[in-house]
Amino acid sequence: MSQIAVNTERCKTCGVCIELCPRGVYVATQEGYPAPAHEEKCTKCQLCELWCPDYAIEIEVEEDGA
Ligand code: SF4
Ligand code: SF4
Repeated sequence: MSQIAVNTERCKTCGVCIELCPRGVYVATQEGYPAPAHEEKCTKCQLCELWCPDYAIEIEVEEDGA
């Protein structure tokens, strides 16, 4: 199950998330959308989610003791 959700209706294909992900998780699709091609490398640092100017990314993080 994917823990990275990219909302392509919000995404403006700026490429910021692809550039800043320290793990190289994203690969740009032909249209320029970020595809989490290497999701297994994701550390859930949430940088992409925080920096996306269009709030198009959601990283599912498990909550402890909630
Ligand atoms: S949460 Fe961090 S490691 Fe995962 S895709 Fe986003 S920037 Fe990359
Ligand atoms: S940072 Fe946001 S708007 Fe820019 S390419 Fe990534 S998901 Fe799309």
